Amino acid sequence: MPSISIRNVSYIYNEGLPFEKRALDDVSLDIGEGEFIALVGHTGSGKSTLVQHLNGLMEPTEGEIFYDGVDYRKKGNIATLRQKVGLVFQYPEYQLFEETIAKDIAYGPKNLGLSDEEVEERVRRAMGKVGLDYDEKGEQSPFALSGGQKRRVAIAGILAMEPEVLVLDEPTAGLDPRGSREILEEIRGIFESTGTTIVLVSHSMEEVARLASRVIVMDRGRVHMDGTPREIFAREKELRAIGLGVPQVRRTMTDLVEKGFDIKEDCITVDEA
Ligand code: ADP
Repeated sequence: MPSISIRNVSYIYNEGLPFEKRALDDVSLDIGEGEFIALVGHTGSGKSTLVQHLNGLMEPTEGEIFYDGVDYRKKGNIATLRQKVGLVFQYPEYQLFEETIAKDIAYGPKNLGLSDEEVEERVRRAMGKVGLDYDEKGEQSPFALSGGQKRRVAIAGILAMEPEVLVLDEPTAGLDPRGSREILEEIRGIFESTGTTIVLVSHSMEEVARLASRVIVMDRGRVHMDGTPREIFAREKELRAIGLGVPQVRRTMTDLVEKGFDIKEDCITVDEA
């Protein structure tokens, strides 16, 4: 059974007003346990709106969403859904607020009614997953950290909830190339070590090529393509038509070959320029 089933979901902002906007238009999708999905699409294609439906933060205007067969919204049990599906927003570091890193990360698990020891253990584990040492950094202020490190603290706050599905909305936005690479490696590490289902919103086809096993391409609120990276990148013309490029092959060739891609067969053109 898929973890999440999205059935004919539409979402309209400002419904009934002159400037109403259909941001999702009859989206149906199944997200399976243990998948690493990249959600891509031009700005405004509906990615953020869609991911906010996955943990019940937004309610469909039409359609239904099931988690392990249960519609938690209808059951009035959104808190349970939020534990199962962790959502890391864009620029999550803006939501840091506690005086120490450890306290900030502990905020979510503390509200689960766990013992102090269990909370601390979760904070340690979560910090470890994003490459931060609890003993070294736990008592420091999150506000003294670099942008990339603040973002790791924010991601750790979600990881400490130990979600079954981790959804990240543009986790590398605004970071320099090194910071981006490090965060992506940590996400890959989380996936490989825990098998957590991952949905990664990205505007970078290179990120997608490196990490995902399935790519969902959104366009104007609809699912435009859904397939393996190999299948999606072979449809270069269609991708360009909706404002997306294929990966810069020269930079990602090694990664793609390592992932078992047959570059020639997949018709990914080498940019000689
Ligand atoms: P993406 O994440 O792919 O950039 P969004 O889900 O943010 O796309 O936006 C989808 C569409 O909904 C866009 O046309 C956007 O302008 C519109 N939209 C997003 N948020 C709001 C909002 N709070 N109020 C009105 N329209 C919105």
